[in-house]
Amino acid sequence: MTILSVAIFFSESQVQSLETANIIRKPVYLDYAATTPVAPEVAERMAACLTLDGTFANPASRSHLYGWQAEEVVEEARAQVAALIGADAREVVWTSGATEANNLALKGAAEAWRESHPDGGHIIVSAIEHKAVLDPVAWLEQRGFRVTRLQPDHYGQISPQQVAAEIVSDTFLISIMQVNNELGTINDVQAIGAIAHQYQCLFHVDAAQSAGKLAIDVSPGHIDLLSLSAHKFYGPKGIGALYVRRHGDVKVKAIIHGGGHERGFRSGTLPTHQCVGMGRAAELAAQHLADEPVRIAALRDHLWRGISDLPDVQLNGHPQDRACGHLNVAFGGCNGETLLLSLRELAVSSGSACNSASLSPSYVLKAIGLTDALAQASLRFSVGRYTTQGEIDFAIEHIRQVVKKIHHL
Ligand SMILES: *Cc1c(COP(=O)(O)O)cnc(C)c1O
Repeated sequence: MTILSVAIFFSESQVQSLETANIIRKPVYLDYAATTPVAPEVAERMAACLTLDGTFANPASRSHLYGWQAEEVVEEARAQVAALIGADAREVVWTSGATEANNLALKGAAEAWRESHPDGGHIIVSAIEHKAVLDPVAWLEQRGFRVTRLQPDHYGQISPQQVAAEIVSDTFLISIMQVNNELGTINDVQAIGAIAHQYQCLFHVDAAQSAGKLAIDVSPGHIDLLSLSAHKFYGPKGIGALYVRRHGDVKVKAIIHGGGHERGFRSGTLPTHQCVGMGRAAELAAQHLADEPVRIAALRDHLWRGISDLPDVQLNGHPQDRACGHLNVAFGGCNGETLLLSLRELAVSSGSACNSASLSPSYVLKAIGLTDALAQASLRFSVGRYTTQGEIDFAIEHIRQVVKKIHHL
């Protein structure tokens, strides 16, 4: 019987006391690209916005002090999010996350375009966007829009020239992510945006993976729409934002209708605590931007050096143009499922999407040229703010033991 399966016979509090007694150990968290824990500084601010003695009110309540105070903290948070990306606070629209921000950007821009172009139009995306871009775009395709999906190079990059080559007379919208969530590979979104604008196309960037890891700057004016998610940078889950550039050419129709909140872009009572949490997380991200990515990249590179001599391992993604925390590795000759089950001391993501029974290999890894077998034998390690050198050393030892055992070494 394994140590972990013992846990099911104990109550939660008993498990906790076993944990503190170090009898069972939680796996090392190396899945920061999936989500991050809320920073204590953020949790503290959020907690002050929940109860009667805190700033709990509806920010849209204009008739009393409670409402005014809630509005004040929400607007402060909006300014903090805007500052992180070089935007004006009036250009930030709160959403429930990057999924909703992407839906609003893509469907909203397409609906606005259709008002003056009833026959639809042409949209360009990359083939390795997050599903939160690919699925809304497929939905638009079913409703009469034409879509080009650009194939990335072997590292997962899309070049500005590639984008330029696909633009036709009715291309109105281009959506390219800044950092790929599986690989960490970075695209030059400023250069792609400049191309988009040369041809009068709107340019949307899914920046869910880049905030807090690399500088995002909308101020040069090459980006019209940009999606953010708080829980990828130590804020809470369930809140995000869409940057909508204030310019006459940038027209977006609402997809959620109600009380006309957020200048009509997105109705619904603002979750004061969530907005404040995202704002504080953005402020911390901006403060840490000079040193944190360097420290995280050093830990990530240490992890890679510790395992790169194992048989048939290969790095997936760009060796240099890569966000600080990402390390996606193919373990050639290993069965992916066996690998994941054996690495029980680590919390990481696999190169497969688990859908009910079958393990289908990642479309991102396949798009950069991996075979089904190699995609399934790939793991994404992602390092973050609270990762320690000790955890990385432990992970290296554990991975080495497991992989050597699988190879009968
Ligand atoms: C996490 C993520 C999303 C989805 O964000 P949510 O806030 O969880 O909806 C979208 N795009 C990318 C690139 C992501 O990493």
